[in-house]
Formats: sequence, C-alpha cells, structure tokens
Amino acid sequence: MKKILTVVGTRPNLIKITQFHKQAKAFGFEHKLVHTGQHFDHNMNDIFFQELNLPLPDFSMDVDKTSTITQIAGIMIELEKVCQSYKPDIILVVGDVNSTFAAAFVANKLAIKCAHIESGLRSFDKEMPEENNRILTDDIANYFFITEKSGLEHLLKEGKEKESLFMVGNTMIDTLVAFDAEIDKSSILKTLKLESQKYVLITMHRPSNVDIKEGLDKILNLIAELDGKFDVVFPIHPRTKNNFVKFGLEEKLNSLTNLKLIGPAGYLDFQKLIKEAKLVLTDSGGVQEETTFRKVPCLTLRLNTERPSTVEVGSNTLMHFDNEAILNQIDTIINGTYKKGQIPELWDGKSTERIFEVLSKIV
Ligand code: UDP
Repeated sequence: MKKILTVVGTRPNLIKITQFHKQAKAFGFEHKLVHTGQHFDHNMNDIFFQELNLPLPDFSMDVDKTSTITQIAGIMIELEKVCQSYKPDIILVVGDVNSTFAAAFVANKLAIKCAHIESGLRSFDKEMPEENNRILTDDIANYFFITEKSGLEHLLKEGKEKESLFMVGNTMIDTLVAFDAEIDKSSILKTLKLESQKYVLITMHRPSNVDIKEGLDKILNLIAELDGKFDVVFPIHPRTKNNFVKFGLEEKLNSLTNLKLIGPAGYLDFQKLIKEAKLVLTDSGGVQEETTFRKVPCLTLRLNTERPSTVEVGSNTLMHFDNEAILNQIDTIINGTYKKGQIPELWDGKSTERIFEVLSKIV
C-alpha cells in the first residue's frame, strides 16, 4: 500500500483536508496526518477536529514558536524525523502558511515527492508572508493541484511542465458541500439574536489592516457608520484582538452598540453566519472563496487578491479601506444593484476525489 503523508498546521489547512482520509481509503492509500502545531488553541484548532470529524494527527509537533524562524526550523527538524521513520511515498502540503513551505522544503531535501494543494495562487504582493510561502513552495514541489484558472496560468508562466499541473477545483468547497446539512443546523443566529439578512459579518486579521492603529480605527469607524442599518458580527482573530488591546482601542471596540463581538467561531457557526449574512467584510483568503460559493456579497478590504476568480466570476469586490467608498458599495447591496456572482469551474464538492484519482496514477 502506497503511503501518503499530509502536513497541516493551521485553521485553514484543516478546513481544506476534511475529505482526504475518506478519499485516500477509497483509492487504496495509507494516509497519515502530521500536525505542526502552528495553530494550537481550542478555537483555532481543536474545535475543527471535533466538528469536521477529522482523525487525530498521527504525528504532532511541539516546536519552539518564539519566532517565525524557530518555528519553521523546528517543523523542519521534526518532520525530517517523521519522514525517516514513516517513509512516505509522497507528502501533501496545503495552502500558503509557514508549515506549507517548511514541509515542502523537507520533502525536497529528502528527495520525497511533494504535491502542493492550492497551488499557483499569486497576489503579487511580497509584503504578504503567505505570498512568499506560495512562491517558495511551488518552486520546489513536484505536483501542483490547482483551484482556479489563474493558478494554472501562473504556473505555466513560471515554466512548470504541463504534465505536473492538475486543475481539480477547491477542496475548501468540498468541506462546505459535505457539511451543508450540519451548517444549517447551527443555532448561532438565535444565540446572537440575529436575523437572517439583517447583519454584516466581518473578519480581519491581515497585518496590513490590523497591525497598525489607523487600520483598527478604520474598522471601528466603519462599524459605527453601519449603526442603524445593520448589526455587525465580528468573530475576532487572536492577532486582531491583541492589537486592539495594544493600541488602547479595546474600550472603543466594546462601546459599539451594534457590534456582536465574539471569539473565533467554530466552522459550522461561522459558515452559518456567512450563509445568512447580507454581506461580508473581510481580508481573509478562504472567506472570499466561501462567500463566492454562497453567492453572498463580499467586500475584501485589500488591494489585491490571490484568488481573482472570486472577483471575476464570484461575488467578491476588492476595496481600499476607504469608509465612504465601502458605504457606497454597501448601498448597492442594499438596493439590489450589486453584481450577482457565479461559482467558478470545478468548485463542486469533488475536488479531493479528483486529487486522489490523480495520485492513484502518479504515486
Ligand atoms: N473561519 C472560521 N471561524 C472564524 C473565522 C474564519 O471557521 O471565526 C474559517 C473560514 O470560514 C475559512 C478559514 O477559517 O474557512 C479561513 O481562515 P483564515 O481567514 O484564518 O485564513 P486565510 O484564508 O485568510 O488564510
């Protein structure tokens, strides 16, 4: 039996691999999971294992997270040991986080084949740590599983062999499809006393928005401007929360009367919040894709996206963090003239199956 080792480390990684075990079994592979411990607390990690029925990791790491370097180096050292004992035939790495690059690098040095899931995405913004992780990973991986047309174009432009490129769609959407009935059962709207279509969902965690006081102030002002029109639900990322405290803005945050501030939400509650929202304001990568699948208007407060199909085909719009422009765009959503999105090709819930079908031919 051929052996596949999948490496995960963060919340979005977990959400992208929920169907891997099932499909590995269906295609006759032995499949083991490594967790690098990049995200580790209950709200960012454990709850996803519980809700998404993920098998517990076969190998878990506890590396020094004092700095990005100690973390990446620690993951590399630990993963080398795992590879030496388990001897996988191929390593699967997912997305664009530090764990993705660290694992691809180890595979490369140990001459183990590596496949990158969600390959070829580019924001062309090297200020984003994720962009560097994507480029470095794609540079040394052997097989490339691609979620959208732009990924294919970038990899071809970068000189990859056509035979190593596989347009399979988006495994994050597989999870949405697989758990749709569970998502519908979430009682989060009732718990937060929200009415469908009468609230805005907001998530913010990119350093460019939340590591500066000005960015946090803009978020507060925007929420205040929406008072009278919408309730606002803000499942706050730990990084963002810490920065509100650091910049002395916590009191102002807590004083907003139309704001429902909650911690990072579990998968099912969060997806229910997306599904029933009038619109979503975000700087997340994954949320741009999930809103596109749901055809929920999404305003992404970034100047670029590595997921252009969500803008070209889907319900997403990129925006400067300019409150007047955002409020004007929100008016188009309220009066029904905002664009109607479509679902990109192959975002149909069967991407993991396509990946393992390919693996059954190449591993
Ligand atoms: N997510 C979640 N709870 C939250 C916020 C996000 O379950 O409170 C999910 C979201 O639906 C998406 C993933 O986490 O599937 C995206 O993660 P994040 O925004 O942290 O990372 P990015 O996609 O920007 O790399």
